[in-house]
Amino acid sequence: MRIDLHTHSNASDGTQSPAGVVSSAAESGLDVVALTDHDTTAGWAEAAEAAAQEGIALVRGIEVSCNYEGISIHLLGYLQDPAAPGLLEELERSRESRETRAQSIVERLSRVVPLTWDDVLKQVEPGATVGRPHIADAMVAKKIVASRKVAFSDYLFDGSPFYESHYSPDPVTAVRLVRQAGGVAVMAHPFASARGIVVKDAVIEAMAAEGMAGLEVYHRDHSADEAQHGLDLAASLDLFVTGSSDYHGEGKPNLLGENTTDPVVLQQIEALAHGVKVLRP
Ligand code: AMP
Ligand code: FE
Ligand code: FE
Ligand code: ZN
Repeated sequence: MRIDLHTHSNASDGTQSPAGVVSSAAESGLDVVALTDHDTTAGWAEAAEAAAQEGIALVRGIEVSCNYEGISIHLLGYLQDPAAPGLLEELERSRESRETRAQSIVERLSRVVPLTWDDVLKQVEPGATVGRPHIADAMVAKKIVASRKVAFSDYLFDGSPFYESHYSPDPVTAVRLVRQAGGVAVMAHPFASARGIVVKDAVIEAMAAEGMAGLEVYHRDHSADEAQHGLDLAASLDLFVTGSSDYHGEGKPNLLGENTTDPVVLQQIEALAHGVKVLRP
């Protein structure tokens, strides 16, 4: 049984539609895939329909952007009720702030490169969560850079002169809201130092104390040492561990199923959740 619990569609910053992600998952021989777009569940309905057609099981999820004292953290939520008010309001607030923030990044960029907000909007699916990858895609379309990767390394990296952050909840609040929505909270790529500054273990301990259930340990952005540290911390806090691809379609080299999660862990997730069910063919 092959299970990948972290993917993105064009409901956020992936390049494939939700149905496209699900068919690619089936094609790559996965038995279970989770759709975890940034700060939105807008892709769930389309993914559910595709999963039924493709004969693959679907875990409906989300990746909640969080901020701890200026450090960006991602929290995966699985099987939560998408209409639960507390989480819904925080996500709306994040998405709105992402929009204003993206406009300000573009306004700064427009002083040095030929890029407009309209160029960026052409890259965003209606209703999708806007992020830096859409700005990157617009820069590729305008031939300012050759790829998303170069757009990030030359212009969009954390702390660049064009960078601006956006509102997002603190991680302990996010864990509480995911749980209140009946979901299961798992911290995404907790020690991926290559992505930027990571939080101290004490923050992860506080998240665990609020009921976070797992750590995403097997992820390409973790070095062997970082993964080992994840295993040790998970064992000491009694958390389960997951492995996933963080697939973004063409937007990143990450391949579906490049890391996978133990079926026993999926059973634990299902046992803890009381928002929505895993959809099985
Ligand atoms: P944002 O959510 O707007 O702050 O943008 C962060 C997103 O950018 C992450 O979710 C990644 O998908 C994407 N990202 C970060 N670095 C890179 C990179 N070097 N190449 C492609 N995508 C990236
Ligand atoms: Fe992303
Ligand atoms: Fe992430
Ligand atoms: Zn992700």
